[in-house]
Amino acid sequence: MRCTHWRSVPLNVAREARERSAAECVDRAVRCQLPTHGEDTEHFGLIGDLDEYGTALWLRWQGKSEVDLIVLPDCQISAPGPDGEGCCLFVGHTEQHTWEDAPEEGSCMS
Ligand SMILES: [Zn+2]
Ligand SMILES: [Zn+2]
Repeated sequence: MRCTHWRSVPLNVAREARERSAAECVDRAVRCQLPTHGEDTEHFGLIGDLDEYGTALWLRWQGKSEVDLIVLPDCQISAPGPDGEGCCLFVGHTEQHTWEDAPEEGSCMS
């Protein structure tokens, strides 16, 4: 199961994300991409990919506290097999890789 937490993206953070990612638009809210995890760990929502290969902008938050906009390198661990699915998360994430969990969800986005 994916974590079901959503966080609205503050306007100033969305503006900064647009400048850094050159994205046309930034979602007004992001969903945590981690598998279900405890309340005492941080949530990570994907804002968008960066021009630099293998990096992405993430929104990090915990509870109702302030959010952080951070750049993280992509997790490079893919599922075993000739066309194993890539992990949608970042290097050093907690919990399992996205392909280890809920394969029916398939895609990284949404
Ligand atoms: Zn979460
Ligand atoms: Zn991973």
